Amino acid sequence: MKTLKVEHKPKQPRIRHVPESTCIACRRKAGKRDLVRLVCSGEAIEADLKGKKPGRGVYLCLSSECWEKGLKSNRVEHGLRTNLSADNRLLLLEYGRGLTKKESIQ
Ligand SMILES: [Zn+2]
Repeated sequence: MKTLKVEHKPKQPRIRHVPESTCIACRRKAGKRDLVRLVCSGEAIEADLKGKKPGRGVYLCLSSECWEKGLKSNRVEHGLRTNLSADNRLLLLEYGRGLTKKESIQ
């Protein structure tokens, strides 16, 4: 007769982790709500508003300054290990400007 051996694995204490990321442009640490994730989906880099897309991601503040800095200094490309096309860059810069507008309304 086999005895059922119930293994009690020591549970690791769960550290309450507040998801925090760093803006790749200004290096400011912020909660993910205050940052926009950028992911490379195949050919293009796009904003991942829900933060659910698979793959490498980089984060930028909700500030057009950071978007410009991040996109123009190639930090986004570097972080995602991909190349950003001119069109894609423009699109994302536009996107960053839109974010700042929204924020200023509040
Ligand atoms: Zn920033």
